[in-house]
Amino acid sequence: QQVTAKKRICIVGAGPAGFYAAQYLLKQLSDCTVDIVEKLPVPFGLVRFGVAPDHPEVKNVINTFTKTAENPRLRFFGNVSLGQDVSLQELRQRYHAVLLTYGADQDRELQLQNEEQKHVISARKFVAWYNGLPGAEQLQPDLSGRDVTIVGQGNVAMDVARMLLSPIDTLKATDTTEYALEALARSQVKRVHLVGRRGPLQAAFTIKELREMLKLPNVTTNWRADDFAGIAEQVEQLQRPRRRLTELMLKSLSEQSKRTATAVDGKQFLPIFLRAPKAISAKEIEFAVTQLQENAAVATDTTECLPADLILRSIGYKSSCADPAINFDPQRGHVRHDQGRVLKEGEGSSVEPGLYVAGWLGTGPTGVILTTMNGAFAVAKTICDDITANAFDTASTKPGFEVANQRIVTWDGWLRIDQHECEAGKAKGKLREKIVDVEQMLRIAGV
Ligand code: FAD
Repeated sequence: QQVTAKKRICIVGAGPAGFYAAQYLLKQLSDCTVDIVEKLPVPFGLVRFGVAPDHPEVKNVINTFTKTAENPRLRFFGNVSLGQDVSLQELRQRYHAVLLTYGADQDRELQLQNEEQKHVISARKFVAWYNGLPGAEQLQPDLSGRDVTIVGQGNVAMDVARMLLSPIDTLKATDTTEYALEALARSQVKRVHLVGRRGPLQAAFTIKELREMLKLPNVTTNWRADDFAGIAEQVEQLQRPRRRLTELMLKSLSEQSKRTATAVDGKQFLPIFLRAPKAISAKEIEFAVTQLQENAAVATDTTECLPADLILRSIGYKSSCADPAINFDPQRGHVRHDQGRVLKEGEGSSVEPGLYVAGWLGTGPTGVILTTMNGAFAVAKTICDDITANAFDTASTKPGFEVANQRIVTWDGWLRIDQHECEAGKAKGKLREKIVDVEQMLRIAGV
């Protein structure tokens, strides 16, 4: 692609933040080119490797991203990792502006003893396993026990619970990886506990995810009536989304008391509130009973043990520092910035000219794709404003990215992988059969 353009912008990370920012920049700046540098040979970040396989409609955003990628002023450089294959300094020299959107690829820990034991795994790894992130196929979660306890009650925790409790036939048509389908088909898991430190009014999952759980065939949801003491009285004062969620929980609880007996063969979904993880042992996890004080969970001396053949930690993601030149806050796990402008190390509020951050790398790991989109548009607008205001050098000629000893997957290379995956999936009656081996991806991409 031979394009003559004045402003060269590099985006690091081909997830939603990267693609939405690219879309905005290409539309608003007719004289810019955008290069997206992505660590993996394949694009779309957590839309491919996070979003649950039984939520294919969420992945429709890929169509918008593909339209953006087809713009002749955009180039995709897959299989190029910032910090490994290229440094931030090189990128800043080669581009007028660099936007970091490389997401959050680590997880927060409970900081408990025995957390490194084999039966304790992060929801992040489990999600990556069923979604086919390269390297994650090695995880081999042990699903031979009856009880799984998930620590955390966000939508990621709900996704994981649903994957464990869904009838295998409903997953077979999705793009769940074949090895995960085989393992889930053999699974002996019967009860999934979903444990949170705070109460029903603070539950982090949303109503759509709860509705799906309540509708799962052959799964009974059992709440603890004690957790809901005094809740019904507060419903009227709640904001609408919170009120509807709470009403649904209360409705489900009241239906539960009318049920005669739990189907013997059935699986159980067991949400448990007001418990903070305290100690991990081989077959169980101990929780401190908590009390709410101004919306915060405070541990009491009372404890409760829950059975846990497998423990899944789902208390959030965090970013890593991909390059030492990035002003990274290790405590909070994100890049230090002011409205998307990356701050200079140790210099108060002065910014690095031409360096920006968006998406989970800037905001921390919160928000759905729509939130990420709005944030990325806002940062892209800031870049446009800064260009208009000549806030950084846009006059000198910049060479852009150059290939050096690297097998780079172009957008056409990705389309070849995509076609291969869709055809392999079709043969099995699935949406797609993801390739998980990087070497194989590169071969199919033709590099
Ligand atoms: P990411 O999507 O993580 O993209 C970052 C990209 O950067 C990745 O492609 C990564 O490979 C690349 N990268 C990483 N390191 C480097 C490097 N050193 N060099 C170059 N590239 C690099 N939202 C919804 O709206 N609906 C859902 O159903 C939903 N489900 C979710 C399920 C899970 C398990 C998770 C974790 C999130 C879910 N979300 C969902 C939220 C949504 O995925 C995020 O809002 C969004 O993906 C964040 O976008 P991002 O671009 O900041 O990060």
